[in-house]
Amino acid sequence: MNRRGGSLPPLAEGFVPYQVERLRQAFPILAQRIYGKPLVYLDSAATSQKPQAVIEAMSRFFLEENANVHRGVHYLSLRATEAYEQARAKVQRFLNAAHPEEIVFVRGTTEAVNLVAQTYGKVHVHAGDEVLLSTMEHHSNIVPWQMLCEQSGARLRVAPIDDSGELLLDELERLIGPRTKLVAVTHVSNVLGTVNPIQRIVELAHAQGARVLVDGAQAAPHLKLDVRALGCDFYALSGHKMYGPTGIGALYARRELLEAMPPYQGGGDMILSVSFEKTLYNKPPYRFEAGTPNMVGAIGLGAAVDFLTGLDPIALAAHEQAVLTYAQRALAALPGLRLIGTARDKIGVLSFVLDGIHPHDIGTILDREGIAIRTGHHCAQPLMQRYGLAATARASLGCYSSEQDIDALLAGLAKVQEVFR
Ligand code: PMP
Repeated sequence: MNRRGGSLPPLAEGFVPYQVERLRQAFPILAQRIYGKPLVYLDSAATSQKPQAVIEAMSRFFLEENANVHRGVHYLSLRATEAYEQARAKVQRFLNAAHPEEIVFVRGTTEAVNLVAQTYGKVHVHAGDEVLLSTMEHHSNIVPWQMLCEQSGARLRVAPIDDSGELLLDELERLIGPRTKLVAVTHVSNVLGTVNPIQRIVELAHAQGARVLVDGAQAAPHLKLDVRALGCDFYALSGHKMYGPTGIGALYARRELLEAMPPYQGGGDMILSVSFEKTLYNKPPYRFEAGTPNMVGAIGLGAAVDFLTGLDPIALAAHEQAVLTYAQRALAALPGLRLIGTARDKIGVLSFVLDGIHPHDIGTILDREGIAIRTGHHCAQPLMQRYGLAATARASLGCYSSEQDIDALLAGLAKVQEVFR
């Protein structure tokens, strides 16, 4: 079993090596020049770029299929409904969920976590109970739980990490007890790149009767996912991080959990019948999709899933790891540079600080070289505090990233250091 929740098949005969230059051609935006320089896009952890296939699927929907779903008896409405539900089935297969009804379309990871906190959480988390997070969580996997704790009188606990950015599993195990109702943890850290051992965390949580929500925002574009192998109860992802559009994401939840959960928002589509005396709610997933959904977003997400599953997962992982290793070695060799996040199991996120230079200055100088990186607290302020930092610079990789991008980054960083010499 590998960390992705599945076994690595042997390399197929006639295996074609990963052709990053060809793949880049599928992303029209990458051909741009910025300030007269070729665009070097190293901000995929914030949002990924979109392949032509996703852009075309979305424009085809508007050109040929657009109508409201689930409501009409006319041709276009039926066709739009079919496309929308096909997209759900694609996400189901992508996650290896058992049923399409286990996939709820949401705005993104943030909404997925809020949905679970305000439905499952409201019913199951009470005064004296505990919700366990880790130090490396994104604000969107902290604040919704804090809000729930404020409402319910429950307590937030936090599992610590070591200096390399790995979760301290012994500490996590110690913190899970009979009061723990929920463990909410990220699959991959957006600051450190750490890949967390979700299967083990699930075992530890389930042994104490706690449910596990996994924030998969940063995992979905990089790892082959299998929610059944992971064993988690909830899994959240965002379309825009995985080569799909913004404003759409998915929440996976096991069917029996969804069936027992009260609605999130009220409105059209989430009901079976409404009268002023009593409303009967629809079954999942529709119970959780009030109002006209983001239909074109779902179509785009389906196309993104097709794109990702169309890439050879072994070749993709090997390529991304090769670029990561190249980048880590080169950055670590730069005098005055400190990498934040050096876990043994990590994906292509490179956070760093440079002695005496503010990350925002690094970002601004690199920008003039056509290089897009992110600087700041990356919506993970408690993690920044853990490292005693206010901000880092972060270069993050996507399927289209190459060693040339890293060479450009290094040349850019040399300019940064020159300016501050
Ligand atoms: N979790 C992680 C680890 C993230 O990186 C992000 C996005 N930066 C989120 C959650 C939130 O995702 P979204 O803004 O798409 O809801």
